Amino acid sequence: MKPLGPIPPGFAAGNGVLAVDGVAVTELVERAGGTPLFVYSSTVIRDTVARLRAAMPARLALHYAVKANPYEPIIKLFAQLVDGFDIASGGELAMLREAGVDPSLVSFAGPGKRDSELEAAIAAGVTLNLESEREADRALAIAGRSGVVPRLAIRVNPDFDLKGSGMKMGGGAKPFGIDAERVPALARRIVASGAEWRGFHIFAGSQALDAEAIADTQAQTLALAARLAEEAGVALPHCNLGGGMGIPYFPGDVPVDVARVGALLAEQFAKLPPVLSDTAFCMELGRYLVGESGVYLTRVVDRKISHGETFLVTDGGLHHQLAASGNFGTVVRRNYPVAVATRFDAPVEEEASVVGCLCTPLDRLADKGGFPRAEEGDLIAVFCAGAYGASASPAAFLGQGPAREMLV
Ligand SMILES: *Cc1c(COP(=O)(O)O)cnc(C)c1O
Repeated sequence: MKPLGPIPPGFAAGNGVLAVDGVAVTELVERAGGTPLFVYSSTVIRDTVARLRAAMPARLALHYAVKANPYEPIIKLFAQLVDGFDIASGGELAMLREAGVDPSLVSFAGPGKRDSELEAAIAAGVTLNLESEREADRALAIAGRSGVVPRLAIRVNPDFDLKGSGMKMGGGAKPFGIDAERVPALARRIVASGAEWRGFHIFAGSQALDAEAIADTQAQTLALAARLAEEAGVALPHCNLGGGMGIPYFPGDVPVDVARVGALLAEQFAKLPPVLSDTAFCMELGRYLVGESGVYLTRVVDRKISHGETFLVTDGGLHHQLAASGNFGTVVRRNYPVAVATRFDAPVEEEASVVGCLCTPLDRLADKGGFPRAEEGDLIAVFCAGAYGASASPAAFLGQGPAREMLV
């Protein structure tokens, strides 16, 4: 038997059935009209934001990175909970506007911004986190033609990365940001152009669980921001410290000690150099804020034995939850937290693999896990499905179509 990942806090059984925000998942599936279904818990999201706010210095603003989950009810919920949004495409800007988010609270990072995306963002008053000098030229030219003062920040490619992060986004040659040594010259040019100078965006990595590594990266980020601002001879109105905090997915993973991260950041804030004394700071997070809120529910269609191994074949799969299949940025396949939702408090009775309905051996949601005996019609829950699930999976693959989504 292979271990399964840890089920996040906030999920319990009522009468043996998994409940989300106090409602049995069988009831939620009925309300949604069937499976597969992503259910997101607003209670888990609210609790996560509250825990983070309590841990972090009050000076630190919180932004939501929309790419983690752009489902409209989630965007609307975050509009009540966070101080800003980070987007990575014109499509995400359109989603935010549709949801009624004030564009002046939005910053736009991401390589390869097209002119049409720059135009829409500049016209709306979105802050651009510039990813190259050429992008700066194009943004200034577009703003000049339209007579709008653009709000411009520089995304810095830091000369360090976040230790232990699942996805490195800084350090060495990268498509993201502008190499640190070229930043002061561009900062001076932006200020001289008459644009609204918004400061730096420094994102060094994500999905880290080690508080000391995150704090160490934040300290390096502050030092880098101070050095570059001083070298440029410009003030720094705003500095986006990036994100980095991840969630436990796999056996043995331990949650980030956010109280420790917050305490160490408060120490840093207490000894900021003069060039940063008036700077506003934020952190942008996707996965940490929304990942644990989501449960992917799929129904067992068939139960079969092959060469003595049990397979629970479901109506879902990697076309909705690519990451749980181990094919989204992981090197070694390990099991996500997965459970039989309709026998949630039953003891382990057998070893089984939970597979999807796609005709590919990649489509495996749990490999040789320990489960109560599940039959056709039972519901399987894949946890930690709130981030990089529905929108980060190949929903059109094999003509299976998208999953339903629901915020409770
Ligand atoms: C992907 C991304 C994020 C969100 O990362 P998480 O791991 O979901 O917190 C934040 N900022 C930028 C620039 C990103 O590319």
